[in-house]
Amino acid sequence: MKYFSFSTIREYSIFFFLILIIIIVLIIYSINSDYKKENLEKINSSLDNTYLKKTIKEITNNLKPRFTYFEYSTKSGDNYQDIVDKLNINKKEKKKIIETISKEKKLKVLNINQKFIFKLDNLSDEKVIEFRVETGKKNEIVFSKSSDKNKFLSKIITKNFKKKIVYKETIIKDSLYNSAMNLKISPNVILEFARLYGFQIDFQRDIWKDDSFQIIYEEFVNDNKEVIDTGDIIFANLNLQNIDYQLYKFEYSKNKIDYFDENGKSVKKTLMKTPINGARLSSSYGKRKHPILGYTKMHTGTDFAAPSGTPIMASGDGKVMKAGWCGGGGNCVKIKHNSTYQTVYAHMSKFGKGIKRGVRVKQGQIIGYVGSTGLSTGPHLHYEVIENGKKVNSQKLKLPSGKVLKGSERKNFEVAKIKIDVLKSNLISN
Ligand SMILES: [Zn+2]
Repeated sequence: MKYFSFSTIREYSIFFFLILIIIIVLIIYSINSDYKKENLEKINSSLDNTYLKKTIKEITNNLKPRFTYFEYSTKSGDNYQDIVDKLNINKKEKKKIIETISKEKKLKVLNINQKFIFKLDNLSDEKVIEFRVETGKKNEIVFSKSSDKNKFLSKIITKNFKKKIVYKETIIKDSLYNSAMNLKISPNVILEFARLYGFQIDFQRDIWKDDSFQIIYEEFVNDNKEVIDTGDIIFANLNLQNIDYQLYKFEYSKNKIDYFDENGKSVKKTLMKTPINGARLSSSYGKRKHPILGYTKMHTGTDFAAPSGTPIMASGDGKVMKAGWCGGGGNCVKIKHNSTYQTVYAHMSKFGKGIKRGVRVKQGQIIGYVGSTGLSTGPHLHYEVIENGKKVNSQKLKLPSGKVLKGSERKNFEVAKIKIDVLKSNLISN
């Protein structure tokens, strides 16, 4: 009992001590909040000071530059209203700009890739104080606000650009992109280069260390010898494992420009619909009763009946992925043309000379001969086109025309080609 009462007193003392601490905390808190309130009032009263208010407005205005620029290059399907609508300005101002443009004869037609630059004054109510519209590589029209700020005055400016033809070549050490960047070739030109070769070359896999390229293209240089812009690629050659892939820019008829290889074939290669001469289409793509298996099955290719031994051609440039036995397909060849297309040729009696895995082939090159190997009732070529991994009907493919220059176009091309070759040797000797 005695022991118990001693313990109770001790517990009470802890209880009193806790109350004391709570009281102290409350007192400190209330003093502090009074102080805060006072402080806040002080800050508020100083914010009322008009001088300070003005300073703050100026500071925030200064955070945003007074003049900003908005640049836009037109895309297919754009109209002037679409472009002006991209600006953060009011309706009235937009209307004024559209009216100004519509009065300018040179801007009757809006072209693709036409450059617009708007200069905006962010402190002004009507923000656009000047805008420029490119009307060609060397010309632009500048519209500036009149002094009464009511309308825009136009002025045609000829930029003092000089067109320069440059030649560059290098051995590819790591990637094509890095090698080109090291030569200070503009990314625009590199992209165009890749696009032009895209039908023939799979950039992910076909480029090996120590392959090389040469390129001739246009640069636009200002008075300070700075490159302002780049123009067209005139010539390029990609040397892959000692095979040249050349392309020449050529205007084959008025305003129709394309790129052709040294034989006058468009580099926008198509795949051949019939990679065999003198054959008859014997079975088309689609559902059919299999001639050997006897049940209805999807026929995922096109059959061409032809005598045994008839040469089979590569339907496009590419790399042989397989030249061997494919089971039901017998002796078959599979070619990868680019990152999108592959083709398969089955039932061959034998393979073309030198045709094996890893070899590069050109369109029209003989890759094998008609036979009846595998599951086949008679000599024929079974031809498949694979688009992005899916088998498609080769006879319904919509690919670029794969133009081949003939007649007078071909003659003119030979002349243009010689001119470019001479230009190239001059540029190299310089
Ligand atoms: Zn077939």
